[in-house]
Amino acid sequence: MSDIDLEQENDEGIGRRKALGLMAGVAIGAPLIAAASGAGAAPPAPPPAGSKSAGQNQAPAPAAAAGAMKPGEYVLPPLPYPKNALDGYLSAEILEIHHDKHHAGYVKGLNDAVAGLAAARQKNDFTQVKALERSLAFNGSGHVLHSLYWNSMSPNGGGEPKGALQAAIVASFGSVDAFRKQFAAATKAAEASVWGVLAYEPLGDRLVVIAPENHQNMSFQGAQPLLCCDVWEHAYYLRYKNDRATYVDRFFEVVNWDYADKRLQAVRT
Ligand code: MN
Repeated sequence: MSDIDLEQENDEGIGRRKALGLMAGVAIGAPLIAAASGAGAAPPAPPPAGSKSAGQNQAPAPAAAAGAMKPGEYVLPPLPYPKNALDGYLSAEILEIHHDKHHAGYVKGLNDAVAGLAAARQKNDFTQVKALERSLAFNGSGHVLHSLYWNSMSPNGGGEPKGALQAAIVASFGSVDAFRKQFAAATKAAEASVWGVLAYEPLGDRLVVIAPENHQNMSFQGAQPLLCCDVWEHAYYLRYKNDRATYVDRFFEVVNWDYADKRLQAVRT
């Protein structure tokens, strides 16, 4: 299956094969990238203990099964819309630099970390393993979150969540407005480069807001991100300067609730 096929299928809803692939892989996170864009590796991994979807993790993800990419190689997914599509919120210049430079850098860093660890095993020389594992976590988490970020926004976004997502937000936060307030407050209060992430936490069967610093710190292991807002300065500074609050508040004018709803239904098995 090509990247384009996956992209189109994504626009039309989650087909059976994709839904199975998403469910099979959600416990390891990486198929989020395939779900979002049709690119990115989905290496097999044992299911985490206590995962409700542990029984779903035996089948390979569809992208890997179809041989869509070289094993272990991560690929920068294309933006799901033209670079000027969100111009009322973010300029084409911001999206171009952010996607083509920053996100591409994380993809390269991730591939380099994977290759470095493979070389270490081959040489039986693990003197650099600490730095390599740190790079793997940083760049890998950066790649996953950026891939989700592009799909968390849409030129047709905004409004209010519907369906299963709306019900889950109300059940978990009390109201959609309370969720928005917590999401915005958590990112505005951060002292570092952070993300705002809405995630599904399977053990408690609830939604949570996570504000991971860098890409990987202060994360909640096993929680599956549904939508996210990049609150690193590179995401907004060219338009919003130091006004992080306005950038975060206006995220909800373009938020892609429908994509998050599909993600929730795929991961909540
Ligand atoms: Mn970024």
